Amino acid sequence: MEYEIVIGLEIHAELKTKTKIFCGCKNEFGEEPNTNCCPVCLGMPGAMPVLNQKALEYAIKAGLAMNCDIAEFSKFDRKNYFYPDTPKAYQISQYDLPLCHDGYIDIELEGTTKRIGIERIHLEEDAGKLIHDASGEGSLIDHNRSGVPLIEIVTRPDIRSPEEARTVFESIKSILEYTDVSDCRMQEGSVRADVNLSVRPKGKGTFGVRTEMKNINSFRAVERACRAEAERQTELLERGLEVVRETRRWDDLKGTSFPMRSKEEAMDYRFFPEPDLLPVVIDRSLIAEIKSSIPELPFDKRRRYTEQYGLPLYDAKLLTESKKISEIFETALEVCKNPKLVSNWIMTDLLRLVNEKGKSILDTALNGRIFGRILLYFDRGEISQASARTLMEVIAETGEEPDSVIDRLSLRVQRDENLVSGVVKTIIRDNPQAVSDYRAGKTKALGFLMGRTMAALKGNGDPEQVRSLLIKELDRTE
Ligand code: ADP
Ligand code: MG
Ligand code: ZN
Repeated sequence: MEYEIVIGLEIHAELKTKTKIFCGCKNEFGEEPNTNCCPVCLGMPGAMPVLNQKALEYAIKAGLAMNCDIAEFSKFDRKNYFYPDTPKAYQISQYDLPLCHDGYIDIELEGTTKRIGIERIHLEEDAGKLIHDASGEGSLIDHNRSGVPLIEIVTRPDIRSPEEARTVFESIKSILEYTDVSDCRMQEGSVRADVNLSVRPKGKGTFGVRTEMKNINSFRAVERACRAEAERQTELLERGLEVVRETRRWDDLKGTSFPMRSKEEAMDYRFFPEPDLLPVVIDRSLIAEIKSSIPELPFDKRRRYTEQYGLPLYDAKLLTESKKISEIFETALEVCKNPKLVSNWIMTDLLRLVNEKGKSILDTALNGRIFGRILLYFDRGEISQASARTLMEVIAETGEEPDSVIDRLSLRVQRDENLVSGVVKTIIRDNPQAVSDYRAGKTKALGFLMGRTMAALKGNGDPEQVRSLLIKELDRTE
């Protein structure tokens, strides 16, 4: 029997507000533990939360970017559970009236487009971070993360393969990056996914029993976790056994998952409305204002790059994956109006330099304007390919303007016909053996003479011109 995989993702993303969601503490990663806390985020009795307006705006922005309806009226609820990372013994979240609902994103996989439903996006607070002491004497808690604003994005169970799950996760991360609502630092856990997965016999109308794997923080791990879990469930069904509805922990190092808790052990969160916060009533004009601040998103950009610039899908995908790279591409294209040329140089030389020297060179030395200038000179034949490369390397180091490096290192292509043919004559005079080889029909000798001439011109000859002047001279003096 053939089985079909059904997946839904719940993605948590930290918002990049300056302060926490319900207090004025700094929202900053990597600081000395327990230095950014106050009575509110430590859950002291009597401390009163106040909603951070910016967190609300960022959540609305993410919702609009994912085509959601924004609720004009929503509220916060207490999700009660007892665990040391949550000093209040509840998390403030949103239960039945989420801020954003009924949206979708379009994804692209192997040349086909698919729409994935977004069930809801709600606002909530992050919990503290438990640090398990290596000495084994106990666990420590860092409350700097308590009260950091989060959005939870819940997709509909529309995903049908591990690759698709990965693409959905990548696309959502990319939307959060483009809209600038999260810094999306995966390695710091600022974006993480819970994977819900079930399998069913192909063609069956109802879904199978699902499991949930929590807190997976890389694209690759999501894909691997889905693959392993789909195999595990399929095998159970094939052996006539049942899938148990449970939460599992994915261990990426071991490449397997382990049961954490079953449905019977599932917590009853006893949700109830948060009495210390007012309901959220949103003005239509605020929504319109936020909507107008949303930039062109990666999916639309990709489509435009293929349609307007005629770029292959592969290029368009690579160029739009990161907002920064797409900005470099677009700025460079304003200067050097040859899309495929700019794209090729980004995908090879520029990305190589970024790998070697770090992303920051794109903000300073090799920004879009300078990169575009270098390519413009190359495209016009004013500098050679090798010189364009040299220019980039030098500028990445020194931050100079292209023209001054071109002058300083004499990188301009030499096309002065008198000068070049003078050099050609000298080369022919000094290399009688190669000349007679050429005349004896050994075409390789022409390559040798070209090499000599180019070297004499310090690599700045125009190969076409050098070649034709050489042939002309060789034929003339025969
Ligand atoms: P809960 O309230 O238990 O979190 P939800 O109904 O909100 O459950 O669903 C959570 C996630 O699980 C969603 O992303 C949804 O798409 C996904 N999901 C629901 N049912 C299934 C299923 N049978 N197989 C796979 N994913 C599912
Ligand atoms: Mg859930
Ligand atoms: Zn605080």
